[in-house]
Amino acid sequence: MGKINLISDTVTRPTKEMLEVMMSAQVGDDVFKSDPTVNALQQKAADMFGMEDALFFPSGTMANQAAIKIHTQPGDRMFCDKWAHVYNYEGGGAAFNAGVTSCLIDGNRGMFTADQLASLVTGRNDIHTPFNRLVCIENTTNKGGGACWDFNELKKIYKVAKSNELGYHLDGARLFNALVAKDETPKQYGELFDTISICLSKGLGAPVGSILLGSKKDMEKALRVRKLFGGGMRQAGYLAAAGIYALENNIERLKDDHAKAKAIGEVLNSCSYVKKIEPIETNIVIFYVQDGIDANDFISKMESKGVLMISMGEGKLRIVTHLDFTDNMLEQLIKELKEY
Ligand SMILES: *Cc1c(COP(=O)(O)O)cnc(C)c1O
Repeated sequence: MGKINLISDTVTRPTKEMLEVMMSAQVGDDVFKSDPTVNALQQKAADMFGMEDALFFPSGTMANQAAIKIHTQPGDRMFCDKWAHVYNYEGGGAAFNAGVTSCLIDGNRGMFTADQLASLVTGRNDIHTPFNRLVCIENTTNKGGGACWDFNELKKIYKVAKSNELGYHLDGARLFNALVAKDETPKQYGELFDTISICLSKGLGAPVGSILLGSKKDMEKALRVRKLFGGGMRQAGYLAAAGIYALENNIERLKDDHAKAKAIGEVLNSCSYVKKIEPIETNIVIFYVQDGIDANDFISKMESKGVLMISMGEGKLRIVTHLDFTDNMLEQLIKELKEY
């Protein structure tokens, strides 16, 4: 058997069926808005979320960064959890691209409360403080181990955001994992947020691409920012075709990834070398090994058995299940974990 790659749900390769729709896509020049497949993907996503418009991006990072840019002016302040991807894993882009400062909220597994936000959004008319302009949510949380927000809390945060004239952005790189796990709908989220980014190349299995959703006006601004960032693509319909296929075929099956993650958690729970496992809600398993074991040694030893995983720092080990992680691989992994 080949390697069992569980470092991320981005390692998937397009299936034969997905490649076929890509190869037969109708394309045009998307910078001139004349790629029919890109237009169809954008329309499809906007309809799913009940939002006015959508824009195809080469990456989730660029989609988030464009959102931050359109909601803010240099010197403004945005609010996000201390573990947020937009703050930790986008190269400092919020500061570099938009010139905004970040107020980090001390949340739990990447999630904070409306009360926490309310206590920090102060000083709007004080000349000393930055203008408060934006709040970013991440669902599911990446560093938080695929945790899903309580939708009621998101509604409360909406109220705090709107009463303080803050934009409300959702980094939904893994939003579909949350929707499937919690039986929620895209439209619920479309009603609440000003802008939403979703990734097609994570759990959904497309090779490239993310989408930013929002109002017509915001997407016009985002179109300009995307061009400025160098993200205008030409015959991008080949990629968009994979995105359409992913939205049509690969959402419900995320349940299977979640079930596999839970099965791995149960096995880890029975292994004496495991110190702690974070709650498993979706497709991410975060666990810690006992104090006497070096996390990097553990990773190397698993690698020698053909199992790849990564460390998230602070002793966290991460396993992510995905489309290319088969039932046979799960069996093999369970065997290796038990034998370690
Ligand atoms: C992966 C990810 C992104 C975007 O990543 P890209 O690699 O740029 O597509 C954004 N937010 C979260 C939470 C992610 O996990």
